[in-house]
Amino acid sequence: MGEDCIFCKIAAGEIPSEVVYEDDHVKAFNDINPLAPVHVVIIPRKHIATLNDATAEDGGLLGNMLLAAAKVARIKGVDERGYRVVFNVNPEGGQVIFHLHLHVLGGRKMNEPPG
Ligand code: 5GP
Ligand code: ZN
Repeated sequence: MGEDCIFCKIAAGEIPSEVVYEDDHVKAFNDINPLAPVHVVIIPRKHIATLNDATAEDGGLLGNMLLAAAKVARIKGVDERGYRVVFNVNPEGGQVIFHLHLHVLGGRKMNEPPG
């Protein structure tokens, strides 16, 4: 558990969030500042700061996050239309919160990648 980590607190339910999906490994909730009609953040319950800090041991967890993204897309009704799944890594990657998370964006045509 990261000290004073906002996403650890959301994982623990100490900070409220609009939960979209959760299981033993991950929690998915609506982004507080959505950049698209569907904007969900998926976090592992385990504190990992960035994708760079994930190890081979975390391979299953990373897979669980991706599978959760597909579940979230289905729950939000954008699975067929399409959606985008993004890890921001470190400052130039746009990462602001240093607890690993996956963005699920959809409900509008995405701009051409890379952003
Ligand atoms: P980052 O830029 O680090 O990849 O993304 C962090 C995301 O978390 C941002 O899109 C931001 O709007 C969202 N966020 C930050 N604080 C909170 C919060 O307290 N609740 C929720 N639901 N989302 C948050
Ligand atoms: Zn954390």
